[in-house]
Amino acid sequence: MAYDRDNIFAKILRGEIPCRKVYEDEHALAFHDINPLAPVHVLVIPKGDYVSMDDFTRTAAAEQVAGFFRAVGETARTLGLEKSGYRFLANTGADGRQEVPHFHVHIFGGAPLGRMLNKVEAC
Ligand code: 5GP
Repeated sequence: MAYDRDNIFAKILRGEIPCRKVYEDEHALAFHDINPLAPVHVLVIPKGDYVSMDDFTRTAAAEQVAGFFRAVGETARTLGLEKSGYRFLANTGADGRQEVPHFHVHIFGGAPLGRMLNKVEAC
């Protein structure tokens, strides 16, 4: 899938749409999700044109991949979640039900999060 430069997170990266910023460095931008699913729900996105986890880990330079995942950890620490714990996930593609086609990681926390996932049966 080609990268769509008009996706909502591309516009946030370019500053065309506002966000509630949590953390930023040369590799990544982290901001609060507009529709939080937990007391803390933050998105971390890389600074680059990557559609998905698959695209990012296939095409990004090693320095960018390392810098991005370091930024995820730094974001969680900025939110004060490292002691209580948190969950991060990256919805990827159709089965992963990814809605925004710019690679992003969700960070959830601020309360016990329950089971990892309801059991899914093959269809
Ligand atoms: P996905 O399903 O692609 O993994 O998650 C996309 C996430 O982006 C959703 O949790 C949704 O609430 C969030 N989102 C969509 N549009 C915006 C927006 O304009 N601003 C912010 N901060 N979050 C958004």
